Amino acid sequence: MINIVIFGKPGAGKGTQAAFLKSKYQLFHISTGDLFRHHIYNKTALGILARSYMDKGDLVPDQVTIDMLKDTVENHPEAKGFIFDGFPRTTKQAEALDNFLSGRSMTISATLALEANDDILVKRLIKRGKTSGRLDDQDEDKIRNRFEEYKNKTAPLRDFYTAQGKFHSVDGVGSIDEITQRLTELIDSLY
Ligand code: ADP
Repeated sequence: MINIVIFGKPGAGKGTQAAFLKSKYQLFHISTGDLFRHHIYNKTALGILARSYMDKGDLVPDQVTIDMLKDTVENHPEAKGFIFDGFPRTTKQAEALDNFLSGRSMTISATLALEANDDILVKRLIKRGKTSGRLDDQDEDKIRNRFEEYKNKTAPLRDFYTAQGKFHSVDGVGSIDEITQRLTELIDSLY
């Protein structure tokens, strides 16, 4: 079973690449951002709560996110492996994920980090905001706040996974195909 964490700043291309990896390696793709947006769209209680954080570019509280993630994994016992996109985003989430997976005799195989500089990322997000309708992509202050959240809460995961020997950096600048190629070469070199 391969379980991959796809890691990177907002706009790094996690969702785009996860969609390719999912079909190539037959993994079940879990995007916490997409799950929250689905709840928002359906106006569930979880969606209303998540929205109050997401619209500002803040992270949704850990326990809410962890519970949603666990439910999603538990609801897919048939999966051959998972690709976690946008989760974990804090050390507490990463620890919860490790505990939860080990309780199911599962483990993270690798964390693949898509790297790109902030100026490129801001441009990508503003461009995406013009078509996606995502409020968090349409305002440069909100985008900057997401980078702050990343720096303060998510960046420490680099050390967390490096200490486990699972952290791999991938250049996230180039065409979508080039980046897919880099990721698949890396995954194939690991297995
Ligand atoms: P991006 O990677 O472009 O920021 P996502 O769709 O992954 O986009 O996430 C959008 C928003 O959803 C985040 O800014 C945050 O508010 C919320 N979110 C997604 N995943 C998590 C998580 N693991 N923990 C807390 N909040 C999350």
